[in-house]
Amino acid sequence: MIPGAFSYHRPATVADAVKLLADLGEDARPLAGGHSLVPMMKLRLATPAHLVDLHGVAGLNGITRDGNKVAIGAMTTQHELLASDEIAKSLPILHETALLIADPQVRYRGTIGGNVANGDPGNDMPALMLTLGASYQLHGPGGAREVAASEFYQGAYFTALEPGEILTSVSVPVPIAGHGYAYEKLKRKVGDYATAAAAVVLTMAGGKVATCAIGLTNLHETPLLAADAAKAVIGTSLDAAALKKAAQAAEAIMSPAADARGPVEYRKHVGGIMVTRALQRAASRAK
Ligand SMILES: Cc1cc2nc3c(=O)[nH]c(=O)nc-3n(C[C@H](O)[C@H](O)[C@H](O)COP(=O)(O)OP(=O)(O)OC[C@H]3O[C@@H](n4cnc5c(N)ncnc54)[C@H](O)[C@@H]3O)c2cc1C
Repeated sequence: MIPGAFSYHRPATVADAVKLLADLGEDARPLAGGHSLVPMMKLRLATPAHLVDLHGVAGLNGITRDGNKVAIGAMTTQHELLASDEIAKSLPILHETALLIADPQVRYRGTIGGNVANGDPGNDMPALMLTLGASYQLHGPGGAREVAASEFYQGAYFTALEPGEILTSVSVPVPIAGHGYAYEKLKRKVGDYATAAAAVVLTMAGGKVATCAIGLTNLHETPLLAADAAKAVIGTSLDAAALKKAAQAAEAIMSPAADARGPVEYRKHVGGIMVTRALQRAASRAK
């Protein structure tokens, strides 16, 4: 329960943080809210020799609307997302999802940057970012670049982040007014990671689904975009046959781990149910 020894660094700018990480090499890790990294260190599953704390870095906080996008600084906490009028108005599914993460103590410290950069298949924000078509701004020794969330996740805890790079902000396109949305998460108890979860953003026209995106959490080693499931409901009124087809198409791409949350078949089955429920609730909210 006691982490290994480490040196603590507190840079003030993105450039200094990047330089420290590049100079210190593989033994250094950025520290954000610490609510994924510190438990791993206490279990000695992570033993970084250097922690580069991002809390003092200027420009990594805040939520700003820029045209049809919302930019969220990497160090914005889940609590701050929940308190934001802009998020509630423009990205209500982000508010709904943040509320389902852990408990208030974790949400006061945990950041959006840490949640999406971590690469843990159990984190809730990554699948939502795929569903919303978000992208991530990365800064490293080679300069700045933007990576689509859909190209960021490569395996459990493996992402497109290069050595020395930090994620500085998340850019989320605002879905059109009147869209329907829902994040459905099955968990064993309050504060748990998802046994299975599904995010849906859709629009309806004349009682039929016009556009749809579906994301899946903790049902594969990376977050998934269930494109065939979304296709299965477009042009339908979400009748029972369309819902069944969508759930089956989503289940076909799931490959969850068998763990304390249940065996593979159970998690796929409840994954399909999360997709069905999210589609129905999203449609009921669409105008
Ligand atoms: C009891 C408990 C329950 C939880 N339940 C859930 C849950 O249900 N759903 C959920 O989504 N999460 C859950 N979490 C995790 C929580 O949301 C974390 O806060 C979050 O996953 C990581 O964010 P952080 O700011 O704490 O990052 P940290 O723990 O500081 O960092 C996590 C990893 O990301 C890296 N990192 C952090 N920020 C950056 C950055 N800007 N650029 C590059 N790399 C970076 C770190 O080096 C580290 O490897 C839970 C945590 C706890 C302790």
